[in-house]
Amino acid sequence: MSTKQKRRCAMVDQSACVACGYCVKVCPKAAISIFKGVYAWVDDSLCIGCGKCQKVCPASVITVEVKEREEALV
Ligand code: SF4
Ligand code: SF4
Repeated sequence: MSTKQKRRCAMVDQSACVACGYCVKVCPKAAISIFKGVYAWVDDSLCIGCGKCQKVCPASVITVEVKEREEALV
């Protein structure tokens, strides 16, 4: 059984990310990492959509969006 849940999550425009790592430093949930030193990658399961990464990104490539996802009921 599953249910649909709406939650906020950060999205990175990876083609424009300059891999500065500022977002990684401010994330309270350690949800962002720099993938292969090339671009930021958000772990959807950890991100709480707080928007801190979005505020510090010098390239303005992060947006926080509402996503709908299936959650398994345990
Ligand atoms: S929105 Fe908040 S929790 Fe999500 S990746 Fe950005 S700083 Fe981390
Ligand atoms: S702060 Fe912005 S430009 Fe810097 S690594 Fe994060 S997403 Fe990329």
